[in-house]
Amino acid sequence: MNKPIRIVVAGAKGRMGQEWIHYMEGEPTFQLVAAVDRTLEGVDVGNALGGSSQAPFYTSLAEAIEKERPDCLVDFTTPEAGYRNALTAMEHGIRAVIGTTGFSEEQLKHLEEEHAKHPAGMLIAPNFAIGAVLMMQFSKMAARFLPDVEIIEMHHNQKLDAPSGTARKTAAMIQEVRQAHQQGHPNELEHMAGVRGGDMEGIRIHSVRLPGLVAHQEVIFGGEGETLHIRHDSNSRRCFMPGVALGIRYVMEHPQYIYGLEHILGGEMA
Ligand code: NAD
Repeated sequence: MNKPIRIVVAGAKGRMGQEWIHYMEGEPTFQLVAAVDRTLEGVDVGNALGGSSQAPFYTSLAEAIEKERPDCLVDFTTPEAGYRNALTAMEHGIRAVIGTTGFSEEQLKHLEEEHAKHPAGMLIAPNFAIGAVLMMQFSKMAARFLPDVEIIEMHHNQKLDAPSGTARKTAAMIQEVRQAHQQGHPNELEHMAGVRGGDMEGIRIHSVRLPGLVAHQEVIFGGEGETLHIRHDSNSRRCFMPGVALGIRYVMEHPQYIYGLEHILGGEMA
């Protein structure tokens, strides 16, 4: 049997980090060698989070990499931490699968530029759910024929960034095939700030934050006498895990910088 891929998880105490650590326990292809978060330095992962993983917690990613020699970073933290962690992974020559969302365009551009100097596989994906990637692809397909569109994204109320990375990515994919234009009445008046949502080149994005939600998005297209609703629901964080596993296997074999899971799902998706 091939040796397992050695993984360091940043944001290991968080919702996504914990889900990934528990998923890995049933996958002999992967071995957790270090966990990184803001606290728990030196504590064993199994003791802190339950489950069968045995690896130490660190508060410094650089130290975790130097001591435990992982092959790949999996990051689910915050935009500031995820950005720094991606740079640290590159400086240490290890691959990275970054699921953190909320990076600015400047940060993404800088990461891509830095990657050219440190070419180890890096995947940044704002959504690892296969169904969500299909929802984005179907939306891009529909926008060629129905260019009037609004996006409603709905998440749990602990989410830090708005709009979601998935909504921004969906709008960007739609813009590739749709001419930018203003939607709604040209003399429309907003009697309450933000009531028509955020405006990304004429595409309105609405962000809902409520307890009880996980991650959901509906893309609504309007045409003459018809509407088309394309909706995806992540009902459990488990739905992101096969995409993360696929991403790790991919970056282990490919040294490129990739933004978006759709680029690694096979020729027909790209
Ligand atoms: P969370 O708040 O539950 O967890 C974040 C964790 O990161 C916390 O434990 C926090 O202590 C830790 N952290 C913060 N700064 C750190 C640092 N400097 N070093 C190490 N750890 C640090 O959040 P979550 O729900 O797990 O989401 C994490 C990220 O993943 C968010 O950006 C979220 O939007 C994103 N996300 C992505 C996907 C996807 O498919 N790509 C799916 C769900 C969530």
